[in-house]
Parts: sequence; structure tokens; C-alpha cells
Amino acid sequence: MHYVSTRGQSAPQSFSEILLGGLAPDGGLYLPQQYPQVSGEELNAWRSLSYAGLAYEILRKFATDIPDADLRELTERTYTPAVYCNARAGDDASLITPLHLLEERAGSKVYLQALSNGPTLAFKDMAMQLLGNLFEYILTRQQAELNILGATSGDTGSAAEYAMRGKRGIRVFMLSPHRKMSAFQTAQMFSLQDPNIFNLAVEGVFDDCQDIVKAVSNDHAYKARQKIGTVNSINWARVVAQVVYYFRGYLLATTSNEQKVSFTVPSGNFGNICAGHIARMMGLPIDRLVAATNENDVLDEFFRTGVYRVRKSAETWHTSSPSMDISKASNFERFVFDLLERDADRVRALFHKVEHEGGFDLSGKPGSDGDEHRKCAAFGFISGRSTHQDRVATIRDVQTHCGVTIDTHTADGVQVARNNLRPGVPMIVLETALPAKFNETIREALGRDAERPAGFEAIEDLPQRFDLIPADAEAVKQYISRRTGL
Ligand SMILES: *Cc1c(COP(=O)(O)O)cnc(C)c1O
Repeated sequence: MHYVSTRGQSAPQSFSEILLGGLAPDGGLYLPQQYPQVSGEELNAWRSLSYAGLAYEILRKFATDIPDADLRELTERTYTPAVYCNARAGDDASLITPLHLLEERAGSKVYLQALSNGPTLAFKDMAMQLLGNLFEYILTRQQAELNILGATSGDTGSAAEYAMRGKRGIRVFMLSPHRKMSAFQTAQMFSLQDPNIFNLAVEGVFDDCQDIVKAVSNDHAYKARQKIGTVNSINWARVVAQVVYYFRGYLLATTSNEQKVSFTVPSGNFGNICAGHIARMMGLPIDRLVAATNENDVLDEFFRTGVYRVRKSAETWHTSSPSMDISKASNFERFVFDLLERDADRVRALFHKVEHEGGFDLSGKPGSDGDEHRKCAAFGFISGRSTHQDRVATIRDVQTHCGVTIDTHTADGVQVARNNLRPGVPMIVLETALPAKFNETIREALGRDAERPAGFEAIEDLPQRFDLIPADAEAVKQYISRRTGL
């Protein structure tokens, strides 16, 4: 299996070759040359597998240059109940991503698929934990090392650090805006004492952190010398790891392959829902993929109108679902590639237009760039959005009527899911974080604190380890060089 760039001007690569990288050299994103197909027989055989067994079967279709025995070992070690132990009372933690029936509504069963039972209480662990083990495996084989540089406003940074801590050949340099993360998220990251984890608190805002990462990455000589890599959501292995739980959710919610289910996905950079699109392209019987956004509704606007219009950072809202506060959706190009029937020349032209004019228009209106918006429905895509008031009301309602506390991102998903039910088609809402991570809004909605999983009770009291640094790329470069000795 080889991987091609959505912009058509990079040579095809193998899974291991693209594993440590981000963008293709031509600025595009990698996708498999063809999506592997899953037959009805296979799907039936997969019904009785453990999560790790299922992850192995799906990954081996994509990671064809990693020996089966190694992949088996990596998936068994990654998807073990000991790592995903933060399940709700009553849910079976050994399922890794248990389904929780929320309610029956409008003739449809509405489920929550728990994806946030891992070490950092957000769904990003599902992919990042595998990435940590895959990176270590490949780096050991190549006798190489990697220095991961990232910027975070919360969830990505902690998921990356918990996945990479103690891994041979890997250091993590994570930039976060000083005093801008929640106390809980800060404590999660800064309490790590592993010598290969470096927390840099930047005297600035999240955009400054991102700008520094960009500036360092654009210094190609420095980047090569320091062996700098990233783990952002465009990483292909992260997307593949996420494909697994769509299969898992489908298999848990159905008894026969004649049945279809829909998924609602709280979306920001389009990484999570992109995995749902890929599962569907592989033949998983998905009815609809519902993209749920918050006030930062770039994606909802596209699916409603066909106009993709990225926002400036000053136009980006700071919401109560901060992990979805994005100005553009970095994985969206993968879907557009399929929507345009893999016409890489057109994709390249459209995303050049995004860079220079801020967007494109596939509405089919006079003067637009195409009329492919009408095809989105054939790919199962629809969308919706929520406001802060919607999320607060949904958290309250789900607590009262379903007896479950959900976080603000998941509340966005439940609100949008409820508006898009079809009788007889189960709806699975992906739970992207546990409420303890976003306690401020839980207090607002419920007048009490969110419950915390065991072991997290006094996390804010643990000793913290971080270095304060000015919002300056040169200072960050010097910091890294001093630690790597390269
Ligand atoms: C990252 C994140 C999202 C958005 O996921 P994308 O893959 O960027 O669409 C939603 N909710 C939470 C809690 C997250 O951490």
C-alpha cells in the first residue's frame, strides 16, 4: 500500500516513510492510493474481536510494510484495559471504547461512545498512544532519534506527552500559552517529571506558540539538524488509529451488517470525522456523518452552503469548547480530495486559493469554483452547530434525563445529533473528553463540580515542572539545541 499527496506532486511513499512526517513535500496531505475494502464476511468475523484485535486487523491493511507479528504486539500493548481505565461507573472498561445508551428519541437509539477513558481524559489518547509506540518502534529500527515540537492549548499537548513519556529516542518540546490553560490541563502536563518531556510556558497566547512552531519548522537546516518532528492531527497514523473506533462503535450497536448507524462528531480540525469518512469508504455501513461545530463554524458553513471560508485569528471565538476553536480545518483537504474525485490539480488550485484569498466556493453558483457541494450528501455528510447556551442547556438536560455528565465538546455533539435523528437508525455521539477537563462550564450548568476519575483528585497539588520562555522563535531554538546537544 502506497500513499499519495492530495496535491499530486510528491512521490508515493510507504506507511513507515510517512509515519514520522507531517505534510507531503508539495504541501498536501497523504492518503492511501486506494482505500482497502472490508467484506461482509470480514465484518462478521470482527464482531467477536477485542479492541486490540480489531485495531490489528484494520492497521495491517494500511501499515503493509510493518511485519504482522510486530503490529500485533504494538496493538496489544497499546489497547489494553490498564491504559483505558477511566470508564464511567456501569460501563465495561475492558471494551476500551464502551457504548453507553443515552436515550431513545424520535424512534432512534442515541448512544455515547466513550473515547476518553485514556490517561488524559480526551479522545486524542486513542490515536496518540498508538503513535507513541509506533514512533518508538520505527526509531529503534532505524537507530534514529526524534525531537517533537508542538503547540497546544490543552488536549493535544497532554495526549502527546503521555504517549511519548519515557519513550526511547524521543523528546517532546511542548509550547503552551503561559497561564492560559485551565488549572486541570496545566497540572496534567506540568506534573510530568519524565526527563524526555519539556514544557515551555510561552509569554504570549496560543497563536504565538503556533507561530513559533511554524517559524522553527520553516528553518529547514535547523529542523534537519535537530531532527524536529510533529504530532499534529494531519499525521496519517493518527487518522488510521481513529478509523478503528468507528468500526468498533458500529459493531457494538448492531447485530447484522444489514443495519446502518450514524455518527455525530464534535469537530475542529476535521481529523476525527475524517476517520469516519475513511471507515465509510472502506465499506462500513454508515448512514450519516454529522459534523458538529461550535461558534467557530467554518465546517458547518461549508456543509450548509458549499463555501469554505477560513477565519482570521481575530475572528476566532474563544468558546467553552476550546478544543474546537479553530480558524481552518487542517484535515479538510483529505475529504475535498475525495469529493473532487481525487483530481489533485483542482485540489492544489483550491488550497492555493485558501492561502491567498482565504477560501473557495463549491456551491455551483455563477462564478464559483465548482458545484461539488451537492455531492456531500452522497458521502453521508451533514452538519450543525451549537452556541454556549445550547451546550449549557444540553449538559443540564442530559444530566437530568439520562443521568450522565458530559463535557462541553460532547454536549455540542449531543445537541447537533438530536437535531439530525432518523427513525430506526442508531445515532452514536463520539465522546471527545470527560467533563472533569472542562469543569468551569460544568459548574455553570449543574452548580457543582464534575466528578473526577480515581487518581485525578488532587492533581493540581502535584509539583509542577516547566520553563518560562519569551514568545520568540530564536529563544525556543536555543532552548532545544541546549537540551539535544545537536
Ligand atoms: C481535538 C478535540 C476535538 C476536535 O477534534 P478534530 O479531530 O480536530 O476535529 C473535539 N473535542 C475535543 C475534546 C478535542 O480534544
